[in-house]
Amino acid sequence: MYWKVQFFIDGVWRDSVSERTIPVLDPATEEVIGEVACASTTDLDLALTAVAKGFRTWQKTSAMDRSAVLREAASLLRQRAEAIAVIMTQEQGKPIAESKTEILASADMLDWFAEESRRTYGRVIPARSEGVLNLVLKEPVGPVAAFTPWNFPVSQAARKLGAALAAGCSVIIKPAEETPGSPAELVRALADAGLPPGVVNLVYGNPAEISEYLIPHPVIRKVSFTGSTPIGKRLAALAGLHMKRITMELGGHAPAIIFDDADLTTAAAVLAAGKYRNAGQVCIAPTRFLVQDAAYDRFVDEFVERTRRLKVGPGAVEGTTIGPLANERRQDALEALVEDAVQRGASVLVGGRRQQNKGYFFEPTVLTDVPLDARAMNEEPFGPLALVSRFKDMDEAVQEANRLPYGLASYAYTRSIRTSTALAERIESGMLSVNHYGLALPETPFGGVKDSGFGSEGGSEAVEAYLATKFVSQGSPAGT
Ligand code: NAD
Repeated sequence: MYWKVQFFIDGVWRDSVSERTIPVLDPATEEVIGEVACASTTDLDLALTAVAKGFRTWQKTSAMDRSAVLREAASLLRQRAEAIAVIMTQEQGKPIAESKTEILASADMLDWFAEESRRTYGRVIPARSEGVLNLVLKEPVGPVAAFTPWNFPVSQAARKLGAALAAGCSVIIKPAEETPGSPAELVRALADAGLPPGVVNLVYGNPAEISEYLIPHPVIRKVSFTGSTPIGKRLAALAGLHMKRITMELGGHAPAIIFDDADLTTAAAVLAAGKYRNAGQVCIAPTRFLVQDAAYDRFVDEFVERTRRLKVGPGAVEGTTIGPLANERRQDALEALVEDAVQRGASVLVGGRRQQNKGYFFEPTVLTDVPLDARAMNEEPFGPLALVSRFKDMDEAVQEANRLPYGLASYAYTRSIRTSTALAERIESGMLSVNHYGLALPETPFGGVKDSGFGSEGGSEAVEAYLATKFVSQGSPAGT
């Protein structure tokens, strides 16, 4: 074993009071590489007491001081990026270069939120009477319960922690138990940067037990979750029952619409990179490739060629461009989706199988002629699976793009500004990127509509989600 990941509660690294732990596997070898502490309700009570105390401290900390801590944490993350990348690749599987990119992107995110924390402005509303000041104050909403997934263990946590801390909130964060080590390093960077005790508390355990205990608890004022749509709906319902604010970043099934007039070489190159990054385990990954008739053959040839060039292997091995899936569930899910599609008449152009050696590897796969009732055309594959189909005109493409209840990311390639503008108006998604891959920057909104969730985790909207609005109308006492 090379590490044991502990909780961080009230500024102290500690084990569960029950001493229970959960094993952590390397998805490239299926071997146990460590363990993570598993919370009981006693541990959660300690975290709740700490987060309430942390909130009292942090809400009174000036925006300038909050900003300085976030900046310092960003700087520490950059200094430690190489070492944290090794941990991330061991527990999650992605190639080392991708792990490092994620950590550096997380540092950029903390920097952005450091800047935004100094701009949580209120406003003054013109009054109806002389001597009256109508003030709109922005206040931190209170202690937050945050749940983050295993696909981007550090950056998903950085999005939530950065925004919450910028607003003046304290947090109990529960990252995924499959990938506990790298988000613990993010928390360590914040602590080493001078974050007061109790402001960020880190726990792990049984996800359902933890969310069901924390969300209804009166100390918690806001819930932020990134994960699947079914779990998101369950947590949002629980939060609603207890009148807690929510941010929900859920699944997607992104359409990528390639028109006849597109630069097809760029489209194939950029979309293949977007599809296979992190072995396709990305909520905004392009999945349904809708290609206009005249562009179809050339786009498919170029896309398949790029898929064939990928080198599947352990993320720690030099030259690997696509690592294993993060866990066995994903491998089983991918296999079932491909089998179902093939049974219903789909053609496999490349890939289609799990690799038989140890590790949760799955071949990058391109399917064509997938009928609309195939499971893969309706459920988020969350893996290296591209589904390619044809369309004749804009109406047909938009109808297919909007067919699913998901509405997270969408992509389009066209040289026509008229086509691009029409898509901007007609596509039902939280994000649309035309002619390049321009999503998920710290300064731009990040979030979905419909079953893909609620709220935004980028841009100034991200901080707004952690602020409450208070209106103060101040008159002048008589005689002053
Ligand atoms: P899952 O729904 O079981 O879990 C997703 C995440 O939620 C995990 O991190 C898990 O620890 C957590 N979780 C599960 N049950 C929970 C509960 N009751 N309370 C609190 N947290 C809980 O799915 P999975 O098998 O781990 O992942 C596959 C699916 O998850 C994918 O199909 C994808 O839709 C979704 N996912 C989405 C994102 C994203 O970025 N939006 C990230 C990871 C996974």
